[in-house]
Amino acid sequence: MLRRRHLLCCGGLAGVGLFSALAAHEAGLAGPLLNPCPPIQPGSVPGDSTGTALDGVPPDWLAGIWDGLDPAQLWDVHAHLLGTGDSGSGCWVDPRLTQWWHPVEHLRKRMILNGACVPDRSEAVDQAYVARLTQLADAFPAGARWLLFAFDEALDTDGTRRPDWTTFHVPDAYARQVAARRPDRFGWVASIHPARPDALARLDQAVQGGALAVKWLPSAMNIDLPSPRWTPFYDRLAAARLPLIVHVGEEHAVPGAGQQGLGNPLHLRAPLRHGVRVIAAHCASLGTALDLDQTRPRQVPAFDLFARLMDEADWRSHLLGDVSAVFQFNRSPQVWHTLLQRQDWHPRLLHGSDYPLPGVMPLVRLPGLVKAGLLDPAEVPPLEALRRQHPLLFDLALKRRVRSAGSRLSPAVFATARHFT
Ligand SMILES: [Zn+2]
Repeated sequence: MLRRRHLLCCGGLAGVGLFSALAAHEAGLAGPLLNPCPPIQPGSVPGDSTGTALDGVPPDWLAGIWDGLDPAQLWDVHAHLLGTGDSGSGCWVDPRLTQWWHPVEHLRKRMILNGACVPDRSEAVDQAYVARLTQLADAFPAGARWLLFAFDEALDTDGTRRPDWTTFHVPDAYARQVAARRPDRFGWVASIHPARPDALARLDQAVQGGALAVKWLPSAMNIDLPSPRWTPFYDRLAAARLPLIVHVGEEHAVPGAGQQGLGNPLHLRAPLRHGVRVIAAHCASLGTALDLDQTRPRQVPAFDLFARLMDEADWRSHLLGDVSAVFQFNRSPQVWHTLLQRQDWHPRLLHGSDYPLPGVMPLVRLPGLVKAGLLDPAEVPPLEALRRQHPLLFDLALKRRVRSAGSRLSPAVFATARHFT
């Protein structure tokens, strides 16, 4: 059955009382639920010669985040580009997200735009989104970059466009154009539905245009990974050595076609068998999927299936996972502890932020991480202060600070550029 729920962006703004709490705060728009969006000081990060202090963030604590890291290797491999098309970008958002008589959808859109510090009722959403992201990026040391995602439409199996399944659309050309303006900070990731009649031509164009990867969200776009129809597409990806970033596990944030079964992590074996390097977005850390390896398949945590693939010898050189969104409140402590403790996986885990979600305040709940034993309570005040001033730096700092049984995410997780050269 096709279900429709509406929300921008991926990563997991699931309901779970979040939006009723938000509704209660709507009148005053107060409290810690909203990103205060202060102006960003250039060079607010140690390592920049013009370094400016951040309120409530001890400089030496902040400097410690960079211990053992090379900023030139720090590519954020999961950052969303969003827009309404008001600049002529070709971006598109499901109109239901902007209609007050769809209150939940409307509120979700507002939260996402607040996370990106795009003013409510802005008439220049495209421009404001990129301007804020650029400011945040420019506060990082030179060399750090963000991979900006295009996002293709949902298509029927016969290749027909399905606007009724499409939550939002960001054309390849726009992602390429935004990245080209600031190649020192941005690269771009193409998104091409393989059922498009001209999918291979689009892929060639993306390769020639310098795309660093291709991104799919099978459950929202309606892509059945094991289908033999995609063999030419997989072969072309493998030949170009272009990674395929695939969202597997449950997806609440981009409902799209609503086909959660298409997000089964075991389906990743199809592109892997064709020699494609695959990056499992969020390490499939949300929801359940059918264990299709059993004679009587039952639902198991999607993350367990990702873990199974990570441990299969055949994919050791080709299967990777990104750690974007994994420390949000809706992931299980078992996911947190496993990712931190599996040091043998760390060379294959990639830093990603799922921007703009680090700016959506309710999604990361530090007391929950303290309770799970991941975070020293002394880390909470500087992290909270940092989050209000610079969500991207907060996301990095949090991933550097969490630990389980003495094990942290190793520096290899933050040396991501090497996977794209
Ligand atoms: Zn995402």
